[in-house]
Amino acid sequence: MAISEKSIVSDTDTQYRALPPGSIIGILGGGQLGSMLALSAARLGFQCYIFDPNADCPAARNAARHMQAEYMDLDRVKEFANVCDVVTYEFENVPAKTAFSASQHSTLFPTSLALDVAQDRLQEKTFIRDRANVAVADFIDIQSEAGLIEATQTLGFPCVLKTRRLGYDGKGQTILRKPDDIHSAWENLKGVDAILEAFIPFIREISVVTGRNIWGQSASYPLIENIHKDHILHTSTAPAARDDGRAQALSKKIMDALNYVGVMATEFFELEDGTLIVNEIAPRVHNSGHWTQNAGCIDQFELHIRAICGWPLGSTVPTHTVEMTNLLGQDIDNWQDYADETGTFIHLYGKSEPRQGRKMGHINRIIKTTP
Ligand code: AMP
Repeated sequence: MAISEKSIVSDTDTQYRALPPGSIIGILGGGQLGSMLALSAARLGFQCYIFDPNADCPAARNAARHMQAEYMDLDRVKEFANVCDVVTYEFENVPAKTAFSASQHSTLFPTSLALDVAQDRLQEKTFIRDRANVAVADFIDIQSEAGLIEATQTLGFPCVLKTRRLGYDGKGQTILRKPDDIHSAWENLKGVDAILEAFIPFIREISVVTGRNIWGQSASYPLIENIHKDHILHTSTAPAARDDGRAQALSKKIMDALNYVGVMATEFFELEDGTLIVNEIAPRVHNSGHWTQNAGCIDQFELHIRAICGWPLGSTVPTHTVEMTNLLGQDIDNWQDYADETGTFIHLYGKSEPRQGRKMGHINRIIKTTP
């Protein structure tokens, strides 16, 4: 590990110190999350160095430097990490070898453990259930069509078949409603590893966003209620109704078990009787946390930067209730209407092609201000 004067980890590896303004934060991934992280970091006087293969990635425009290289080009990863005082990532599918290499040449927060767990649904659910003692949907590892048939007998119909890796926004996911659905669902997997999950009859989808620093201190935002359309997040509203702090406590248990550093989002299903079941964790800033940008407190991007740099976490208590709406594809064409709305804040990502379903930006509408 390269130990610069500013490194957050000292040369004994046991002492931590806050990174001063002017330090270099490396971000693996140059999408909109990296872009908003870079903007927040710049406000605190940090320099961001983006690693992304794409020449015109959104984050490159808002960062001090951009290394355009493939994630598996480990020589470039080493070169990149060597000049960073801390490295973080903005998406969970960073290849394991890339993350490991970054951790060998700088400090990587969140650590590779969080990444490993979050990249694979089987590992994720097993870790959350067995190591953090937090409830998840019943699940079974699927290795064969016969195994899938047997698993549907155990979990019953409906049930949800999910690829273990690379699934997001409902991709790689099939609901099985009857035995006749099994064969085609198995064929569609094309040999990719999968799990079968019990179907959860939830009344609400909620999430929490929490920052945790190297000393184990944490700060959570109030509960967020999420509405999805076609499996893609449509709106997030916070603070949500019926927030008794349980979701934040469960999320904290998972973060403690991971010895997590940075911002993490935890998505839950809420049942009619109030039971909370974790659907998944995201080891990064999260779409359902974008409302914090206009909520009158430290936003999730700054919280992440503070957490990975060893700064005090600051206040996560909002003064506004905010509804965040994603702008997908052509929604962005209405930017002038949004600009004309009182109490609406616009965040556009600068992506050139408004493909259908592509996240082009979001708006935060202030619903209410706490007196
Ligand atoms: P995921 O890709 O796991 O985030 O799932 C995308 C969406 O599918 C979730 O936000 C839910 O609306 C739905 N979903 C996923 N898993 C289940 C489940 N086990 N039971 C019911 N609905 C689910």
